[in-house]
Amino acid sequence: MIDMIKLREVMVENPDLDLPEGLFYQSLNSNGLKTIRELATFRFTCRKCEDAPCIAVCPAEALEKDQDGIITRYTNLCVSCKSCVTICPFGTMMTDFFVHHRNRDLLYNLNDDGETQKFIDACPEGTVYLTDQDESPEKNIYRLNDRILIREYLYNTEMK
Ligand code: SF4
Ligand code: SF4
Repeated sequence: MIDMIKLREVMVENPDLDLPEGLFYQSLNSNGLKTIRELATFRFTCRKCEDAPCIAVCPAEALEKDQDGIITRYTNLCVSCKSCVTICPFGTMMTDFFVHHRNRDLLYNLNDDGETQKFIDACPEGTVYLTDQDESPEKNIYRLNDRILIREYLYNTEMK
């Protein structure tokens, strides 16, 4: 479980915190590696604006919306200008998504149980943990994939 609500609270209190990132290395493709936090943000936190200003402002055509309104960032195109962060009226994205060279010591492969445990240990207390819960919209818990649950407030009520 990754508790995006709690993570945001922690980040507001500690704005310079270098957060550990979990990802699935086998997902490497033309879209580039995506951290779980970025995937969860576009899937659940983003309000899926009809005329998405983030897409319009991007100088590199690095953002695209799929048929479900979910934004994808092509990391190979993104030039880290952060214009999308500035223009988003809802403060959806966090600027630390857009660093080109992440500290590899903070990247954890969530396909591997040992790395997953290290990721949990490295994250701020209570923000990431193992659970046998299932998706539970009444508790703001949603499934990102077969290994990851996300706790987040949804704006789009159609997803509840
Ligand atoms: S940070 Fe990347 S995705 Fe965002 S506007 Fe700039 S180039 Fe586009
Ligand atoms: S502007 Fe913000 S809320 Fe709107 S689609 Fe882009 S990221 Fe989502």
